[in-house]
Amino acid sequence: MRRVRAYVGLGANIGDSGDTLARGVRALAKLPGSRLHAVSRLYLTAPVGIEDQPPFRNAVVALDVPAGPDPATGATALLITLKQLEQAFGRQERERWGPRELDLDLLLFGRAQLELDRSPDGLSLDPGKADRLLVVPHPEAANRLFVLAPLADVAAGLVPPGWSETVATAAARRLIDEGTEAARPIATWDGDCADWRRIEQDEAQTAG
Ligand code: ADP
Ligand code: MG
Repeated sequence: MRRVRAYVGLGANIGDSGDTLARGVRALAKLPGSRLHAVSRLYLTAPVGIEDQPPFRNAVVALDVPAGPDPATGATALLITLKQLEQAFGRQERERWGPRELDLDLLLFGRAQLELDRSPDGLSLDPGKADRLLVVPHPEAANRLFVLAPLADVAAGLVPPGWSETVATAAARRLIDEGTEAARPIATWDGDCADWRRIEQDEAQTAG
């Protein structure tokens, strides 16, 4: 089966969000036909948009997923799967940008550039709060340190389609704007245990 490398952003700020993200990574790793390629560090991040809410935990995974017959169909199928996982993790309907049990965003789907207003034939996806059913690369990814920092852990040298710079360069630029406290690495993924391993404070400072 042909596969495509997709990048999925995970975020949570309700309950034990570090544990939620660990369970989220394990669930993504088990998706039929998919293979977990890499997991970023776990970041403690400041809320964006609505600032009066608990801090977030964010991470990004690189996941090799079934390509599907064409990028629109393959990416939509993955987005449907991500929405189902959010539901399974107890995500409640709330305001946009507001608190959430688990948010799974499709950041990149191979080299695909898509702006879909309706699902490809044979697939059904409920319209959400966003203007578009599916946009990849995710339009907010380039502007947010909480996405760029973990994405740079797993795809530093990548220039996403439509971007004019690497993920690492974009992350460094946002770091200057937002400051180091906006997204601080607090754990690394231990593939053997399939869980986070906390970064000690002095280690975090040198790891940057
Ligand atoms: P948020 O924008 O806070 O992540 P949701 O997770 O509720 O909000 O997503 C709202 C809608 O955004 C989804 O229903 C989905 O159809 C749409 N959307 C468009 N592009 C993407 C993408 N690349 N990844 C995830 N959702 C997307
Ligand atoms: Mg989302």
